[in-house]
Amino acid sequence: AAARFAALRDLPARATCGSLVGLHMNAGIMADLPSLSGSGAEGVGLFRTELQFLLRNSMPRRSDLAALYARVLKAADGKRVVFRTLDIGSDKVMPYMNRPEEPNPAMGWRAVRVGLDKKGVMRMQLQALIRASAGRPLTVMFPLVAEMSEFVQARELLLREIEREAHLGHLLPEKLEVGAMLETPSLAFAPDAFFKMADFISIGGNDLKQFFYAADRENELVRRRYDTLSTSFITFIQKIVQRCAENGAALSFCGEDAGRPVEALTLIGAGVRSLSMRPASIGPVKDLIRRADCSVVSSIIEEAKARGEERLRPLINDYVRSLS
Ligand code: PEP
Ligand code: MG
Repeated sequence: AAARFAALRDLPARATCGSLVGLHMNAGIMADLPSLSGSGAEGVGLFRTELQFLLRNSMPRRSDLAALYARVLKAADGKRVVFRTLDIGSDKVMPYMNRPEEPNPAMGWRAVRVGLDKKGVMRMQLQALIRASAGRPLTVMFPLVAEMSEFVQARELLLREIEREAHLGHLLPEKLEVGAMLETPSLAFAPDAFFKMADFISIGGNDLKQFFYAADRENELVRRRYDTLSTSFITFIQKIVQRCAENGAALSFCGEDAGRPVEALTLIGAGVRSLSMRPASIGPVKDLIRRADCSVVSSIIEEAKARGEERLRPLINDYVRSLS
């Protein structure tokens, strides 16, 4: 199987119905970057920036972060890299930062909430990103945006930092894309203006599923209780696909389900056309996409909904088995 996946590396993820799917990889450290060419990923769809803050006992310096981000962009060699701003809190805690005890940290003071309340850290990281991408495109994504106004504020902060860099005479990013992670159900119901303002939306499936079902992704008692491949969750994904399409926001899906072939195929059946996953998943996901017809998957979803069925997994599994 490994040889078969390797042979697909330079081939497009085109389904038999003709639909083309963009496959990108998730990364978080410099050592991940060689996988970009190794896996055939189109780019880095999610660069998690937490690790550089977590693996030390004091706040990293702006210059160190800028140097790392610049190395990442250089290693990506022109392929797009989506930098996600700091998503600390919940399961990821910085030992040197004062923070309150929280009864429910996953739903607590984390991600862009911390960034907007403690602007110093967020601004420092944004400055590092801007400096690292001098003369190159810069793509920034804010995590756990729950309502439009949070995105407006975070984006303003970034634009203000770019202006500041310009005043200081620094070379600016050659192009800027600003997006949001859709990880709380609330954001799917944000005003049209939000979807028009965001250059792109990336569904953080791990968190979105946790909040959709109110089932803690870290809790063994409940984390496997609800299935991604249910008509309720997939109908919700279809709703997000529709809102992005109506308002011209590019949509992708990151989160572990993107790297599971059957889940990935179902997301494609729901209309998602861009996925970001761990590099080792790209071969298996591409292999299935190239053998499948996504319009058939869409019909399976619609027929299950019409019959009032809850579970999609057995139906999609049957279809996948019929392919080989
Ligand atoms: C997600 O929530 O799906 C995601 C990609 O972000 P993380 O797993 O880092 O929360
Ligand atoms: Mg998340």
